[in-house]
Amino acid sequence: MSIPFVDLAAQYESIKGDISEAIHQVLETRAFIQGKYATQFAQDFLGAHGGEFGTGCSNGTSAITVALRALGVGHGDEVITANNTFFATVEAIYDAGARPVLVDSLPGSHGIDPARVAEAVTANTKAVIPVHLYGNPCRMDAICKLAEDKELAIVEDCAQAHMAALDGRPVGTFGHAATFSFYPGKNLGAYGDAGFIICRDAEIERLAKMHADHGRQGKYLHEIVAGNYRMDGMQAAILSVKVKYLREWTKSRIRNAEVYDRLLKPLGFQVIERNGGSGSRSVYHLYVVEVSNRDAVMKHLGKKEIACGIHYPVPMSLQPALSDLGYREGQLPVSEKAAGRILSLPMYPELTEAQIEEVVAEFKEVAEP
Ligand SMILES: *Cc1c(COP(=O)(O)O)cnc(C)c1O
Repeated sequence: MSIPFVDLAAQYESIKGDISEAIHQVLETRAFIQGKYATQFAQDFLGAHGGEFGTGCSNGTSAITVALRALGVGHGDEVITANNTFFATVEAIYDAGARPVLVDSLPGSHGIDPARVAEAVTANTKAVIPVHLYGNPCRMDAICKLAEDKELAIVEDCAQAHMAALDGRPVGTFGHAATFSFYPGKNLGAYGDAGFIICRDAEIERLAKMHADHGRQGKYLHEIVAGNYRMDGMQAAILSVKVKYLREWTKSRIRNAEVYDRLLKPLGFQVIERNGGSGSRSVYHLYVVEVSNRDAVMKHLGKKEIACGIHYPVPMSLQPALSDLGYREGQLPVSEKAAGRILSLPMYPELTEAQIEEVVAEFKEVAEP
């Protein structure tokens, strides 16, 4: 029996009728760009995830750029972020005109290391972007304290962390701003590109909205030169349907991760440790396990038609596009070592316990801790 990495078809089947109705409504009312569906979705998402202020955006990458610009980050500024993230985080820093500074992660949890962030602060540091990678909340207590001491802005990259929380407080409400992606494969996925920015207050929300929409005040009065990073009405209407299921889907992900943990930990494998201890609610965008013989494991799983992936195989410090930053191999050893060992196993809400047992049965045939 083949097992996919994610199963978007199974999810669509379960909500097909409501999605068709939502799309029909948008066509009938023609609120294609921002408009009433985007406004409604902003309320729906804040209601489900948490947070008071926020606005839709064109995708998760532009959301980071817009958030940085809204917080006044620009040319000459340095922005500290994790070496182990998806490329978009770093790209958005460039797009805002700033220079990325990469720091190492914590072994086991893969979260950004607050001690390394502290060491990386210079007179030019303007902001820090903790990435809640795999849906695992970063150590926000330490990061918030440091940011306050050094007067840094915090933008949380929550692209993989919808509904994750620390001691009951949702991620995205610790920083000045926080960004989300609704890329189809994310924990809350649109049927196209979409993103979101949670803002700490009404003023940051006002600036984020302006930076996402041609720097406008009125229809043809532009206060700043900005760009077009608006949310699409069709995606907003689709997401308003899907967000109703987010709590349930998140619970299923956590339940599935518990099954994997229960089967893999006794075999001596390093699974994702929670950064924030027992009060941390990780939402498992990905289920990542470490192995010492990854090529052999991937080959075996491939033969058995069990899909897996690597998130991410090349850390930012070793990306060809970022060679100008001057990082050398061996400089950020924790994230570099992890990049050679991590393997993402199938993870989605509809995955069954029997499927997980099958994945682990094949995995342990070959895998070595
Ligand atoms: C997906 C992702 C993004 C970018 O989101 P898009 O919607 O694809 O632009 C940014 N950061 C992280 C950590 C992501 O996983």
